[in-house]
Amino acid sequence: MPLVRTRGIIIRSQRWGDADRIVTVYSPNLGKIRGVARGARRMKTRFGGVLEPFGLVELTLFQKTAEALGQISQIDLVASFSAIRENLTVMTAAARMVRMVEAITVDRDPNYEMFVALVHGLESLSPETDVALTTLLFQIHILGHTGFRPQLDSCTECGQSARQRTLQWFSPRLGGMVCEECGQRGVGRMLVLSRGSVAFIEQARRLSLPQLSRLKAMGTVRLEVESAMDAYFYAVVGKSLPTFEQWVS
Ligand SMILES: [Zn+2]
Repeated sequence: MPLVRTRGIIIRSQRWGDADRIVTVYSPNLGKIRGVARGARRMKTRFGGVLEPFGLVELTLFQKTAEALGQISQIDLVASFSAIRENLTVMTAAARMVRMVEAITVDRDPNYEMFVALVHGLESLSPETDVALTTLLFQIHILGHTGFRPQLDSCTECGQSARQRTLQWFSPRLGGMVCEECGQRGVGRMLVLSRGSVAFIEQARRLSLPQLSRLKAMGTVRLEVESAMDAYFYAVVGKSLPTFEQWVS
C-alpha cells in the first residue's frame, strides 16, 4: 500500500538538506511515521506553515516500500492548539509531551490510547493552568499504556507486596518499588517515593483523561513523583526531557 492517508500530530519537524523538512507524525492507526516534505523551506511552498510541531494534521504520504522514507504529497492543518505558543512554559510542556511519545514508541506500532492522550494533553495546555502538572499526569498516563508501566504494588526484586513490606524506594533502573531489605543489598540509585506519592500515581492511572485535570499534587508528593518519573523516563529511553527550569531566569 504505497499511498497512505492519515491524521496525526506532528511530533518533530527537522530541516533536511537545503530545502526540505523531515516530519515525524504520531497517528492513531499507524503509530509513528516519518515523511519528507520536498521544498518545504522554499519561499513558495505548498506546505505553508503547516509543518510546525504540535499541529494536528491530515496528511498523504507516498511510500515505495515499508522501510523507505515516505514523501509527503499533501498535508492540511486540522487543529493548531494555538494556546501552546503563548509562552515558553507552555511550549516546554508541549515539547515534553511530544518528546515522551517520540522516545517511547517505535515506528509503525500504533497505540490508539497514546494518540488520544496526546491530543487531549496538547488541548489541555494553556497559560492559565498548571502545565507542569498536566505534563506529569500525561507522563504517568502514557507509561500506563506501554510496556513501561512502573511496578508500584510490590518489590521489583523479591516480589513481596506492599502489605508484606514497607515500600518507600523507587528504582528508576528496575522500574518500580524496592523494599528496605533489597535496597540494602544494593540495586543502584533509588529515590524516595512515599505512600502518598504512590497513591497519587495509582489514582492518576485509574482516572479517565477528562477526570485527570481534577487531580492535584503539591509539596513533597509533587516533588517525589516528578523526580521519580523523570529518572524513570531517562532510565527507559536514555534521554532527558526538556526542563521547565531552563526557562526560568
Ligand atoms: Zn524486596
